[in-house]
Amino acid sequence: MRFNTPGAGSGIGRHAALLFAQEGASVVVADRNLAAACRTVEAMHELDGQGVAVGGDVSVADDVAAMVAKAEKVYGGLHIIFNNAGIMDSGDDNVINTPDDVIDRTLAINVKGVIYGCRYGIPAIVRSGGGSVINTASFVAFMGAATPQIAYTASKGAVLALTRELAVIHAREGVRVNSLCPGPLRTELLMKFLDTEEKKQRRLVHIPMGRFGEASEMAKAALFLASSDSSYMTGASLLVDGGITSAYVTPE
Ligand code: NAD
Repeated sequence: MRFNTPGAGSGIGRHAALLFAQEGASVVVADRNLAAACRTVEAMHELDGQGVAVGGDVSVADDVAAMVAKAEKVYGGLHIIFNNAGIMDSGDDNVINTPDDVIDRTLAINVKGVIYGCRYGIPAIVRSGGGSVINTASFVAFMGAATPQIAYTASKGAVLALTRELAVIHAREGVRVNSLCPGPLRTELLMKFLDTEEKKQRRLVHIPMGRFGEASEMAKAALFLASSDSSYMTGASLLVDGGITSAYVTPE
């Protein structure tokens, strides 16, 4: 099994790379932070896993083509791509205040990055005889928040919609395409944004389980979507969110 994961230098991607390697996958760890990708690969090697690091920006088509080419060159094919790289820009706000450069940057990485991953990853998966694509969306694709991040929310809605369409188009080529929709997580991406206790509590009150999720919990969900355990799932949105999208009133 050959696995390519852009955004694997930290958070969900790092945990997924380590878990997939433990399950026997050969992993291409891609990240724009090459040093972080190398650290993930070192940790994989300590677990006797197979992996190589590649630097690159998912919003640049040629970089993504090179990430996929690396998997085919080093491991002879590609079966799984986890399009997981994403940003939440500190300048992201409501629709009135969010500057154009924040909107452009967020859509370039969170949406075009996924499109490029699919543009180059899906043909490679078909060449390898089929497999699974997992695109990371978010619970914010399902519900609105009065703590706005309009560019981020728009980007994740786009990931959900394009994932469904890709699933339909490629279903008969042996390629499954699903989105993983995490709830709020205790990773660098969100914790940098929620930099005071008050901001954290403003969110925690809405989560029935009363805690942020862990990157390792998302990695397990990604593994499920990658494996034959989910063989009849395509076009699905797997919410792993501590119950937040099901809640009206949460427990005291
Ligand atoms: P993280 O910040 O810990 O890790 C993201 C990784 O992506 C980093 O290693 C970063 O260097 C890399 N990256 C960022 N931009 C890149 C680019 N242009 N090209 C290549 N690599 C790039 O974040 P995380 O919490 O693990 O988030 C992973 C995914 O999960 C993102 O798509 C995010 O939107 C989504 N998500 C996160 C949460 C949360 O609460 N953390 C909730 C829902 C969805």
